[in-house]
Amino acid sequence: MDGVDKQPSATTRQRARLGRSIIQSQLVTSGVVLLVSWIVVIVQPASMQNPLFFGGIALVFAVTGAALLVPWSQKNKRWAILLPLLDIVALGSLRASEPQLGTGILLVFPVIWLARNFAYAGAVGGVLLSTAVIWITRTLNPTDLEIGDFPSLVLIPITLAFVATTSYVSGQRTASQRVLLTQQAAIIEDAFARARRQENLLHEVLNAVEFGVISFDSTGTVTLINDAQRLSLASFNAPRNAIVHPVAFQTDRITPYPQDSRPFARAIRGQAFDNLTFWVGEPGSRQVAYSVTSRRLETPDGLDDGGVLVMRDVTAELEAISARDSLIGSVSHELRTPLTSILGYLELAMDDPDLDEETRHMIEVSYRNAERLVALVTDLLLAASQASSTLPVALESCDISELIEQAIDGQLPAASERGISIDVSLVPHLTAQADPLRMRQVVDNLLSNAIKYNREGGKIKVRMRRRDREVAISISDTGLGIAPADLAQLFDRFFRTESAKSSKTVGTGLGLGITRDIIRQHGGDLSVTSELGTGSTFTITFPTEVPAELSAPGSA
Ligand code: ADP
Repeated sequence: MDGVDKQPSATTRQRARLGRSIIQSQLVTSGVVLLVSWIVVIVQPASMQNPLFFGGIALVFAVTGAALLVPWSQKNKRWAILLPLLDIVALGSLRASEPQLGTGILLVFPVIWLARNFAYAGAVGGVLLSTAVIWITRTLNPTDLEIGDFPSLVLIPITLAFVATTSYVSGQRTASQRVLLTQQAAIIEDAFARARRQENLLHEVLNAVEFGVISFDSTGTVTLINDAQRLSLASFNAPRNAIVHPVAFQTDRITPYPQDSRPFARAIRGQAFDNLTFWVGEPGSRQVAYSVTSRRLETPDGLDDGGVLVMRDVTAELEAISARDSLIGSVSHELRTPLTSILGYLELAMDDPDLDEETRHMIEVSYRNAERLVALVTDLLLAASQASSTLPVALESCDISELIEQAIDGQLPAASERGISIDVSLVPHLTAQADPLRMRQVVDNLLSNAIKYNREGGKIKVRMRRRDREVAISISDTGLGIAPADLAQLFDRFFRTESAKSSKTVGTGLGLGITRDIIRQHGGDLSVTSELGTGSTFTITFPTEVPAELSAPGSA
């Protein structure tokens, strides 16, 4: 990682800081010494002749030169200690040569620097050395001690000790604050690097995926459009600054969505929705279908943070479904004509009084199977045209108990073939408003499933009851049962459970969907409870009185 390698190490940073502080301290010391030497040149030029005085000044400037020229960031910290020590010696020399100038107080600069940079040892060492220098330089003076020496011999060391202590304490505090700041800076740097990595990852992922993504903030301003969305816009020659396709068509591929009910407009208004389909591309030219989902985003404190739209190209899926439906539609339509003719001729043959028993039985079996085939083909046609949910029902007063009885009669041969018994003891006499043909289709479908998916020698129980203004018919079996995960898809067209597919039962997966559509057309519903391996109960409920919208003229 280049960026990381280029960062200076902690030791280098520490040395550079030390170098800066040496220079600062040294510049102040040499500045004051320069001032003192000017004053001496003006007031008492003879002092410059004194080698001790001149040597002291020269040493201070030499130390300053070293502070400026030595690359401290590459040197061990121990070398830096030489500079304040030499300063102390130089200042001692100035004091010894011209005690009345009071240059001893300048010792405060190297002492401060030592206390700040070499902690306890620096503070104590600096004060002791300075005191020693002050006392030694006084002993060099042959005159006797007098009261006037008191300030320099006692007060300056005390002042130095006080300054050293304060500098040491404040240096320690600054150091611990610096450590804390460095740690916090490292944490922030780390968090920032992580956020950058996640942002990069998200950016790459969003641009690598094949679905379009648009996100916008709470004011509706677009904050992101990924590559897939840009490509899609470009392939339909949308204007350069467009965010969504200028025109979106509804599922009929011809009618444009009104501007304010387009998915993007709805999402901006704060709506969340799933899998809304729209088409882009002018009718008659290349068209592409998108399934779009909108989600709201929230800030960590729960405030509105705009939203995101995700668009998936579902053209191939929709075209496959439409091709499948048209194939099924045309095949089943072609099958119905010969089947109707077969049924007609079988009926004629059964009417022949001279038929022997065996032949009659064979023709009856053929007739029942042909009838079943017609029912299957009819289901296929209905499902392919999706007409079952819109087919009107012709409601009339119907004897539902009789209708159930007839349905059971029709299914008895299939049930007895597999040794299945049907219990109808809980079917009281009841009349209700219903379309007799369609309601018979409902009961037939549920009964035939209860037989098909039952075990050999199993049981079926049919119950009917009226509660308030509602009829409930339930058909329970002791068969395969349905896994909980399959229940949600049970009414989807062409869905069959794995156990049904692996059993030898023939089916299309259309019956239950059609059954539910019919019962909904009656203002009711179909529900199921089931336990895998134990059995299932399918229950239809519908009102005994005709809902106003279903009894309207024309619906019959
Ligand atoms: P088909 O019976 O032609 O496959 P249906 O729409 O009637 O189609 O049923 C769909 C699927 O639901 C069946 O394939 C089967 O997997 C499951 N199913 C329906 N009724 C029952 C039942 N009584 N017991 C177990 N599974 C059932």
